[in-house]
Amino acid sequence: MRLVLLGAPGSGKGTQATRLKEQLGVPHISTGDLLRAAVAAGTPLGLQAKAVMERGELVSDEIVLGMLEERFSQPDIARGFILDGYPRNLAQASALDALLHRLNLPVDVAVQLDVSTELLVQRIAGRAQAEGRADDTPEAVTNRLRVYSDQTAPVIDYYRERGRLVCVYGVGGMEEVSDRILAAIRSATADEA
Ligand code: AMP
Repeated sequence: MRLVLLGAPGSGKGTQATRLKEQLGVPHISTGDLLRAAVAAGTPLGLQAKAVMERGELVSDEIVLGMLEERFSQPDIARGFILDGYPRNLAQASALDALLHRLNLPVDVAVQLDVSTELLVQRIAGRAQAEGRADDTPEAVTNRLRVYSDQTAPVIDYYRERGRLVCVYGVGGMEEVSDRILAAIRSATADEA
């Protein structure tokens, strides 16, 4: 199963990916996690990305695609993958299609996690207290929500137009939401077969 998880900051992509990777037996690839690891390791790329991430803006397409290409060169992705946090804009969506076409591993389905803006803001505030993420400050959160609606929301239409989108209501218990996602994936992929 080759899956793209789409949703605003705070929509639960990371939480759901952690559970879905167990259920589907495929690796979870989060560009946010890859970038945070580069920042923590103090690599040149991490140093470049750090300030941009702290402001809640997007790291350059070139840097993120390079990281992703490296990750996709590892053999475990032959089993499938859950991609979380990529693509974040239309250029990334095209770049991903080109990369996966080259690897002969096209995306089966893109899942949009639907959560109201009001609840997103509440959830991020809760996470800021619990985890203290550098980009959970009020200014960075405002930027991340703006970047999402300006640049990432069009990616939803990109997959819809290509007949690969399923939309799942992202509010409820963790298992309740992942069961909804699994049912939506099953029905989308059964339609194709
Ligand atoms: P996330 O953990 O997915 O919320 O990502 C945290 C931050 O990492 C984002 O606010 C961006 O600054 C950066 N980031 C993650 N994925 C991407 C991407 N696909 N393109 C550009 N920047 C990204």
